[in-house]
Amino acid sequence: MGPQPPRVLLVGVGGLGCPAALELLRRGVRQLRLVDPDTVALENLHRQVLFTDADLGRPKVEAAAAHLRALAGDARIEALHASFAEAQLDDVELVLEGTDDPMTKFAVNDACVARGVDCAIGGVIELRGTIVTVRRGGPCYRCVFEAPPSIFTETCAQLGVFGPAAGLVGTLLAERALGIERDGPGALLTIDVARDRIRALAVEPDPACPTCHLTSRA
Ligand SMILES: [Zn+2]
Repeated sequence: MGPQPPRVLLVGVGGLGCPAALELLRRGVRQLRLVDPDTVALENLHRQVLFTDADLGRPKVEAAAAHLRALAGDARIEALHASFAEAQLDDVELVLEGTDDPMTKFAVNDACVARGVDCAIGGVIELRGTIVTVRRGGPCYRCVFEAPPSIFTETCAQLGVFGPAAGLVGTLLAERALGIERDGPGALLTIDVARDRIRALAVEPDPACPTCHLTSRA
């Protein structure tokens, strides 16, 4: 990343993605591509701050892009109504991931490490959140979490996400992503809203990690 704000790909325009997008624009990002295969649904309107009742049934990326363009007319906002697998990383300098799907988090990590693109991966369940920043050449998301759970016992749909927690974690996701050069090779941020506690830890590289270990020797 140079002195110019990076070209950003945002994967997931939901509870984390909406506040993250707003924060990216607030901090000067002017080239933003949104990727999400879902449509706006009633049950998540309360924590997806870019949508209104009028957007129900619309692709989330289209509704979000329209609202963001209205807020920042000079920004180039692209909407891709698709899954991350269909997104291109060619002209992207930074990727933010904020979906509720563990498989997507690992897919984003692996693709970004392979292509040498910086990324920040965020998750929130109930009042707790995590953000992992992965800088090119450094340890990765898989060094922290190893693999997606074989059975998703804890998903947002089952446990619920408290709206303000998603707003905080999404805003921090953008803030951490844009500060990725400053924060060292890899960082894990844990957020506990109930205890009013945010902790930052350095990510230790896992020598057995199949993603960044192999890539560093390629
Ligand atoms: Zn790794």
